[in-house]
Amino acid sequence: MNELKNIIVCPNCGTPHIRKNITPQEQAICAKCGKVLYKKDKHIELKIFLLVFSGLIFFIIGMFYPIVDINIIGYKESLRVVESSLFLFNEGYIFISLFVFFTIFLFPFICVVLYFTTTFLLLIKYKKKLIKKLLLIITILKDWCFLDIFFIGILVSLVKIFSYASIDFNIGFVAYIFFLSIMFYIVKFTGVETLWDLYENI
Ligand SMILES: [Zn+2]
Repeated sequence: MNELKNIIVCPNCGTPHIRKNITPQEQAICAKCGKVLYKKDKHIELKIFLLVFSGLIFFIIGMFYPIVDINIIGYKESLRVVESSLFLFNEGYIFISLFVFFTIFLFPFICVVLYFTTTFLLLIKYKKKLIKKLLLIITILKDWCFLDIFFIGILVSLVKIFSYASIDFNIGFVAYIFFLSIMFYIVKFTGVETLWDLYENI
């Protein structure tokens, strides 16, 4: 698996090459036809950090602004994430309430703080030993950060639960979706390997 990952095929002539570590000033070219195979993104640590930073901002907005407005005849309430969890708890939906708390609040909070600290330290190239520890935690936890599939499940159950009420999504919900998309992009497309790579090059 790892060996296959290290092979890159030239998009122009199809010649396979073994991927090698290059510095930000270099670019890898095809030995046969001379086409550029890959180059190193010079500002990748800054890009990732800014993405994580905006993710953190959206997360905070998502937590401090109401996610939903609930309308039950003669009764209207706007709920933030933690309040929604409490509301569900008080309504007797204990399992879903804990589920909301862990998957929408606690796990993403831990993950975004971990990513924020790690990418910030990578950016300023400080505390290499601490970065290694943080990266080890991220590598283990990264699959738990992403319970987005469950998030959709939660939405469906929310709508089911409140079939007797009308629900409007609020600004916190929109911010949360932005947060989710950014973290999804970082975890799935940038990958923890990129962070390890940056760590090796400090
Ligand atoms: Zn080629």
